[in-house]
Amino acid sequence: MKLANRVKALTPSSTLAITAKANALKAEGHDVIGLGAGEPDFNTPEHIIQQAEKAMHEGYTKYTPSGGLMPLKQSIIRKFEEDQQLSYEPGEVIVTTGAKHALYTLFQVLLDEGDEVIVPTPYWVSYPEQVKLAGGTPLHVEGKEENGFKITPEQLADSISPRTKAVILNSPSNPTGAIYTKEELQALGDICVQHDLLIISDEIYEKLVYFGEQHMSIAQLSPKLKERTIIINGVSKSHSMTGWRIGYAAGNRDVIQAMTNLVSHSTSNPTSIAQYAAIAAYDGSQEPVAEMNQAFEQRLNHVYDLLVKIPGFKCEKPKGAFYLFPNVTEAIRLTGFENVDKWVEALLEYEKVALVPGSGFGAPDNVRLSYATSLPILEEALKRIKSFMEKHRK
Ligand code: PMP
Ligand code: GLU
Repeated sequence: MKLANRVKALTPSSTLAITAKANALKAEGHDVIGLGAGEPDFNTPEHIIQQAEKAMHEGYTKYTPSGGLMPLKQSIIRKFEEDQQLSYEPGEVIVTTGAKHALYTLFQVLLDEGDEVIVPTPYWVSYPEQVKLAGGTPLHVEGKEENGFKITPEQLADSISPRTKAVILNSPSNPTGAIYTKEELQALGDICVQHDLLIISDEIYEKLVYFGEQHMSIAQLSPKLKERTIIINGVSKSHSMTGWRIGYAAGNRDVIQAMTNLVSHSTSNPTSIAQYAAIAAYDGSQEPVAEMNQAFEQRLNHVYDLLVKIPGFKCEKPKGAFYLFPNVTEAIRLTGFENVDKWVEALLEYEKVALVPGSGFGAPDNVRLSYATSLPILEEALKRIKSFMEKHRK
């Protein structure tokens, strides 16, 4: 079958593909440990589930406005005010079918053929693909390991051309867990103002920050920056609601209106029941969010200590999200595999541990390991990785 040119080079999301592979092996009866998935292992908090049930029984099972239910927009607006002292009007917020679709729709309404979007590496796998699907060109700027995987203002300034339309910031970052400081955001923001760039600030890991770190959005720094920033967020990671598919975007009214028009022809609206559940997520107790955060911090401490003891693994301790992103150049050298992809494949084959190779994130010397799973499972996974290294050492 001849497919459209736009999807010819499109590959499946490596994060989802590795998870699917691990699950298929599990279904065949293998004892697989999946550290590939970027989702919390906890179930959605009970009060959110109850709200969804109630919504169904009360008949909220119909279409909703395309851009999302007004009460949910109000909850999101209140959350922005309380957490970040940012004020938005309902016309500046759209609720979408997950944060991924907010990004997808945003690129579709922003980009003309050949427009460039600066995508710092390491990046979340879907950014470049989504930019390309919208006819844009992703321009990679290397967040160097020695700079905590963050880009510098000089790098940003040097990469801007007349075709550059926007830059993506993802803090805390998937896959590195890096967090930009207020000063770093200010310096990047100044350049965006100077060059009239739009900022796409993906804040989906906002609530997953550790060791007393505070999340800060670039939009909080000044009205000038807020005006050129579209914030992307959602309940998937913060409230362990990945399957409910509720995300949102907030920012410029015209952009949000265009996105709303576009989704009215694609998804129509995010699932009504999930939207009612998301209201409970934001209006109800935030205790479960704090509990999950504590559990992630404890796991991070533990798994980090175990990981850096394995010969060949080099890793800075991240302060956010729920991933470790070690450089495994030395591990590859020690075991003689051709590259990280082959090493990851063999680890799954021999030890049944699924990790995601860094190549999908634009960082081919690294692997991503999610610690959003229980401590005993993490310990077992690390034991297997250690044993794999010992068995395959040249
Ligand atoms: N942005 C980043 C950086 C992510 O890791 C993810 C992971 N799912 C998303 C966006 C999309 O989230 P959602 O599940 O709400 O679509
Ligand atoms: N964002 C998560 C991850 O990076 C979930 C999978 C996906 O949507 O890519 O693993």
